[in-house]
Parts: sequence; C-alpha cells; structure tokens
Amino acid sequence: MGESISTTCRYCGDVVDHCLGIGMSQMRLDVGNAPMVGEEDRFSFHHSIKDVISPEELAYLQSLDLQDVNDLSYSSILYACPRCETLSVHVHVRFQYDGFKIYEVTHRCKSCQSRLNAVSKDISEYRCAQCGSKALVKDEHRKIMWD
Ligand SMILES: [Zn+2]
Ligand SMILES: [Zn+2]
Repeated sequence: MGESISTTCRYCGDVVDHCLGIGMSQMRLDVGNAPMVGEEDRFSFHHSIKDVISPEELAYLQSLDLQDVNDLSYSSILYACPRCETLSVHVHVRFQYDGFKIYEVTHRCKSCQSRLNAVSKDISEYRCAQCGSKALVKDEHRKIMWD
C-alpha cells in the first residue's frame, strides 16, 4: 500500500508522479554474505534489496558483518539532492545488525553524485527536474492509492 503524489511545475508544466509508501510489501535482503532476513521472513519475498540500491551501496553492504539482522524497515520515500534541489523517489532501507549497529541506505544523485536526503521542506522549495525552476506544486487531486 502506498500513495502517489504528483508534482506539477507551474513554469514548464512538467508533471511527475511519485509513488510512495510500502509498495514493496515483501522484500528480500539477500546480499550474499549472510542469511539476511528480518521480521518479514514469514512472508514470501518478491523484491530483492539488490533491485533498489546502487552497485556501490551493495558492495558496502557486502563488506559489513551482517549478523543478527533485525528491525528491518523499508519504504519508498521522496529524496532531495542538496545541490541540485531536485526530487526523486528511492527505497529507504534501515535495519539493526551485529548488536546495536544501524545500517541506513545511501542513495546518490544521478547528476552530481551528492548524497540524497529525505525531503524535509515544502515541495515549493525544490526545483523542477526539467527546467530547474522553483515552481513545483503538489497536485492533491491526483493523489491515488496503489499497492
Ligand atoms: Zn519546470
Ligand atoms: Zn544533485
């Protein structure tokens, strides 16, 4: 289940649909170096973490000593690039491992490679990916539920 938020650029008219939420209701954390299964292991898995992270991030995950993974959570959220100020949707993944260590996924901007942050400001503070204008509005009427 999740929701789709669409943004419209008032300057160039570009419309982007962002699908958010826990759409990937079953995800497998298989990175090859440990039997990484969280509390979701009672479900069947449709998605692999390999599908939602970069090769660099996968290599980093494989370098960790992933013992006793628990508190796995993941959800599609809106990220923003601190340099380009553009929006993108990525799967946020977080879990605890090896005692009390915390893993939190890193996603990078396709254009400038900056580390993306979860969106914290109003949509109007970010730039249109097409024209670069700070003219985005959220279109509530296009909000739909999906799964
Ligand atoms: Zn635009
Ligand atoms: Zn960027």
